Amino acid sequence: MLEELTRLVRHESPSHDKRSLDGLAQVLAERLTSLGGRTEVVENNAGGNHVVARFTGPDQKPPALVLGHFDTVWPIGTLARMPVREEEGRLFGPGVFDMKASLVMMNQTLEVFQALDLKMPRPLIVLYTSDEEVGSPGSRPLIESLAGECEFVLVLEPPLADGSLKTARKGVGRFTIEIEGKAAHAGVSPESGASAIVELAHQVLRIHSLNGASAGTTLNIGVVQGGMAPNVVPARAVAEVDVRVSSQADAATIERDIRLLKPVTPGTKIKVEGRFSRPPMERTAAIANLFARAREIGLELGQKLTEGSTGGGSDGNFTAALGVPTLDGLGAVGDGAHAESEHIVIESLPPRAALLAALLLSL
Ligand SMILES: [Zn+2]
Repeated sequence: MLEELTRLVRHESPSHDKRSLDGLAQVLAERLTSLGGRTEVVENNAGGNHVVARFTGPDQKPPALVLGHFDTVWPIGTLARMPVREEEGRLFGPGVFDMKASLVMMNQTLEVFQALDLKMPRPLIVLYTSDEEVGSPGSRPLIESLAGECEFVLVLEPPLADGSLKTARKGVGRFTIEIEGKAAHAGVSPESGASAIVELAHQVLRIHSLNGASAGTTLNIGVVQGGMAPNVVPARAVAEVDVRVSSQADAATIERDIRLLKPVTPGTKIKVEGRFSRPPMERTAAIANLFARAREIGLELGQKLTEGSTGGGSDGNFTAALGVPTLDGLGAVGDGAHAESEHIVIESLPPRAALLAALLLSL
């Protein structure tokens, strides 16, 4: 597993580098083909290609879908300062935890199924995408159409820090608040201007005050820009806001609040753009039931599975919002996703792969 993982991590694959993504898609497609999958590289002109592999099983049951992504947040060249390295039972490297270790677990599981001639109780679709880290703009329709065929979805994202699976995720929205004011000479005629920056300051505090509007709703004004020079009354200022919600209803409420923002500075206007790009993954009865079954299967392996929720989104948000029971966080145990300290705990690879195998053989 470490050998395959090292190879995948050394193949850098940032979300915006089509050439490297397409190369890795080819590597993964060949691997899945060798494991007995009917494999297709799905062309994506707006980004990297995706890989779909279908494995046969008794046709009278709808298939299972396993979701993974092979893009990372790390630009080409990161390996030079963050090489793959093993230290005190951990393997470090860009994308090792999020989520190349997961892909290796899946591939190795299929290899064991092949070697031991283990039969799955239903067909399996494996989808590896290339744009999860940028919100899955190209793969979303593919994810949704495949999930629509399936009985349930297993998502290979990293688990919570203690290894807990993820049965709820917040929805994620991104909004841009643009203020239009009126420029004027700061010395000659300041009174004829309308400061977009002063107005933005009011709106920033207003937006920040919406934090906690309902349980789990958070807003972060992460970027502000505006103005031209100290001696010019600023005509334009912009804020970028990240919004997280626990339910679809909260998403609608907070979006309405943001769109209804009213200017307080005479002569200024507010323009709001943006939307929720990932719906919340709500812990429905069907998801709770899927986790309960996974928990029983884990117990047979001597593993006590726990569950939790996270503010981060994944492709599981899309499938859960379609009503397809989704279990997320099935990746290796580790820490430091999107950070220099990114690593996996090496000894977690076999038991997590065993869990994935048992789920695929039992569910
Ligand atoms: Zn991920």
